[in-house]
Amino acid sequence: MCDCCESEGRDPRFHTGSRKVMQVRLFKVSMGKVARINLCKLCDIELFHVGEIRFLNNHIQLTKSLSTNQRQFT
Ligand SMILES: [Zn+2]
Repeated sequence: MCDCCESEGRDPRFHTGSRKVMQVRLFKVSMGKVARINLCKLCDIELFHVGEIRFLNNHIQLTKSLSTNQRQFT
């Protein structure tokens, strides 16, 4: 399930369909740590186009859930 779609209340099946979500690593969420999240194809393309900082700014709910949920950090 796409973490970005889930945090914003979108139905992930609409974006993902039967395709697999991909695990993505974010390097600029927390100093010295890597956050691992799952993204659907459309969210992954958006991340690729706008870059990590703007993607996190565009999806504040995802950023909030990442900052409160530390288990996704490695
Ligand atoms: Zn998504």
